[in-house]
Amino acid sequence: MHYPRAMGKLIGELSKLPGIGPKTAQRLAFYILGLSPGRVKELANSIIDAKENMAYCSHCNNLTENDPCQICNSTERDRRIICVVESPKDVIAMEKTGEYNGLYHILHGSISPMDGIGPDDIKINNLLPRLKDEVEEVILATDPNTEGDATAMYLARLLKPLGVKVTRIAHGLPVGSDLEYADEVTLSRALEGRREM
Ligand code: ZN
Repeated sequence: MHYPRAMGKLIGELSKLPGIGPKTAQRLAFYILGLSPGRVKELANSIIDAKENMAYCSHCNNLTENDPCQICNSTERDRRIICVVESPKDVIAMEKTGEYNGLYHILHGSISPMDGIGPDDIKINNLLPRLKDEVEEVILATDPNTEGDATAMYLARLLKPLGVKVTRIAHGLPVGSDLEYADEVTLSRALEGRREM
């Protein structure tokens, strides 16, 4: 289909977003064109603002406006436990349970040999230096699917020789699912039922 240049560019950019096919991109583009100039500026500015002001915490890799992030900087958190998750969305899910008060480490992905994603492609490197402090337990809360399990296995082999207790959250979670979609009760139980690896 041939659109005027500016419209074609907008549809092209939108269709590069995850989960947005050409049809949805077209629908969104027409929607944006129908907005008032003020609303369009607000939308565009919120994208630029998020990109310019959000960074990754140098300790845990979580999204933050300040480094270190609020959780790493908190004096209220239990610094003896680190919960390893795949994405910042998992941190939000864990925080919602209200059951966890330790620190986090966000990998930003999982090991997936099928997709050519190895240990060097996720954020493992800055986890090891953190274990020198008062950390006693690392909870592996990667997703309960093939990639998440492979990542947990890899990390367990890496961390156990360092003398830290390594646990994996229980499989109360639906197998093959995403942590971020688990309800609070299921996630709380999975955390409670964690087992040493
Ligand atoms: Zn942090």
